[in-house]
Amino acid sequence: MSETFDVIVIGGGTTGLYTAFYCGMRDMKTKVIEYQPHLGGKVSFFYPEKKLYDVGGFPGVTGEDLVGNVEEQALSVQPAIVTGEKIESIEKLEDETFALTSTNGEKHYSKSIIVASGLGSFDMQPLQVKGSDAYEGKHIHYTIQQLNQYAGKKTAVVSDSRVGIDWALALEKVASEVHIINHGSDFKSVYEQDVEKLEQSSVYIHRNSKVTELTGSSTELKGLILNDGQEIEVDDILVYEGLKIDKSLYDQWGLSTDKGRIPVESDMSTNIKGIYAAGDAVVYPHKTMLIGSGFSEAMTAVNGAKKHIDPKAKSQVYSTVIYKHS
Ligand SMILES: Cc1cc2nc3c(=O)[nH]c(=O)nc-3n(C[C@H](O)[C@H](O)[C@H](O)COP(=O)(O)OP(=O)(O)OC[C@H]3O[C@@H](n4cnc5c(N)ncnc54)[C@H](O)[C@@H]3O)c2cc1C
Repeated sequence: MSETFDVIVIGGGTTGLYTAFYCGMRDMKTKVIEYQPHLGGKVSFFYPEKKLYDVGGFPGVTGEDLVGNVEEQALSVQPAIVTGEKIESIEKLEDETFALTSTNGEKHYSKSIIVASGLGSFDMQPLQVKGSDAYEGKHIHYTIQQLNQYAGKKTAVVSDSRVGIDWALALEKVASEVHIINHGSDFKSVYEQDVEKLEQSSVYIHRNSKVTELTGSSTELKGLILNDGQEIEVDDILVYEGLKIDKSLYDQWGLSTDKGRIPVESDMSTNIKGIYAAGDAVVYPHKTMLIGSGFSEAMTAVNGAKKHIDPKAKSQVYSTVIYKHS
């Protein structure tokens, strides 16, 4: 049996990462399990390049920088972090510890759980071009994550939506050349101003176009060929052709749910003793689906989990007084 943690945090979005940091504040042995290959949740996925103005202490911060900071804060307390694993089932054992099993069969053990897995897991629609597998992850991406990785590169965005336009305009600032490839004649879910901005930019717009072929060696991408035969040299391709949201597994885990989210008490406890929840995953009267609310709920959930495994523990601590880390 693998080691038992004080707490396992399911989900490595902003809430899960901050939860991990706060578990460190409470001196808890912590593991974070995230389905995606990278951390950051919705912020990394949907708007890494956008500026956020409503997170306390940041008068304006890009999604990418915010995730970078929260991740750095989490890593400072050295939690175990597992990525690329989706928790499928949770079982309470006779000694009251929890056994969590992921879809690939890995087992994880913990005295308490904090669910920070949002509304469930999501997968991007993959680029449907023969031979694309060879370049996935290296030259074909489904989120910008870090804008600077495209500095000086020739890039193509395959998308017919506003997300694609946002990405193309963000890439324009760093990449040497940007193409946007839209299989339709219009962009979906956009404001007129978005399309105007795109048309006024240096981004090459290809409408009614489809990528039919990729060129390059078995590992290095050189370019792509469109349905009209046009060949474009590219180093990287970003794809946003919609996403598939997998329903959350909360019912399957034995948690009560309300329209797919978990009703919690004011201490963030769920209907299962020892399981707490925070962030977009939870629902209660006047709940806001915002990053800041997730942070606050994370602190409460961690304090609850700490009390669960050590009833004599203080109900809260101050970082300036109790906690010191280098
Ligand atoms: C377009 C857009 C703009 C927004 N703008 C703002 C804004 O300006 N300000 C603001 O405060 N908020 C904003 N939000 C809301 C904010 O993004 C969310 O409130 C926040 O990201 C929620 O974080 P979370 O960590 O709770 O959930 P998520 O970010 O959804 O993270 C959950 C993580 O859990 C993982 N996961 C799910 N199921 C499993 C499983 N079974 N096993 C393992 N891992 C799992 C997922 O892969 C994901 O990484 C915006 C949201 C969107 C979509």
